[in-house]
Amino acid sequence: MRRPLVAGNWKMNGSLESVRDLLDGIKRGIDEVRVAEVAVCPTYVFLPETEKLLAGSVIGWGGQDLSTEGAGAFTGEVAASMLNDFGCQYVIVGHSERRTYHVESDELVAKKYAVARAAGLKPILCIGETLEEREAGITEQVVARQLDAVIDLEGVDALADGVIAYEPVWAIGTGKTATPEQAQDVHAFIRGRVAQKSAEVAEGLRILYGGSMKPDNAGELIGKPDIDGGLIGGASLKAEDFLGICTAAN
Ligand code: PEP
Repeated sequence: MRRPLVAGNWKMNGSLESVRDLLDGIKRGIDEVRVAEVAVCPTYVFLPETEKLLAGSVIGWGGQDLSTEGAGAFTGEVAASMLNDFGCQYVIVGHSERRTYHVESDELVAKKYAVARAAGLKPILCIGETLEEREAGITEQVVARQLDAVIDLEGVDALADGVIAYEPVWAIGTGKTATPEQAQDVHAFIRGRVAQKSAEVAEGLRILYGGSMKPDNAGELIGKPDIDGGLIGGASLKAEDFLGICTAAN
């Protein structure tokens, strides 16, 4: 039995004040939702405050990206050890916004996965196709390529230390959610591909869905056999909505 994970990706949103309010709201509501695992990923500068407010709670936290380098002359970058310094347990790698706006290749993302893993962080590996790719009928090819980059670099067992987030790019922040059937098809494909290398890793692998997940569609999506939770963007910025998704994940 895989424990569901609901993780919030706050992206470049919030102020110190709004982050405090949001964390407070989630903390107050979380006792009622006995979802196995809940985490939030604020932008770097809010990690110290997040650690301060969430330490000792059932809510985890993580970064939205990390550098492949350990330290040095890499202006603007943040190392895995720095995420460790602020108690992060998770880190998102390969989000489509990073792949698109920062031209992150599959190989770079795989390296980030490896660096996170080596630092004891749980990487949340985002994979997913664009609308053009879906319409061209190459969704499976695209997610297989993105997944294989990690397997080729680190071996299939490395997936046991992380989480996959299937995020169709056309569904992110657009209000267009993949239907539960569309999502389940791709999740089953991903699990099947991993199973070709290791049935055991595939069975334990958590595959989250991400893309306009909301309290009113979360239950149906997470109810599918291969959907093990969600990576939530917009709806993670309101405590009530985020908690609603956590409840649905039960
Ligand atoms: C995301 O960016 O990871 C995401 C899923 O965003 P949204 O929920 O806003 O579509």
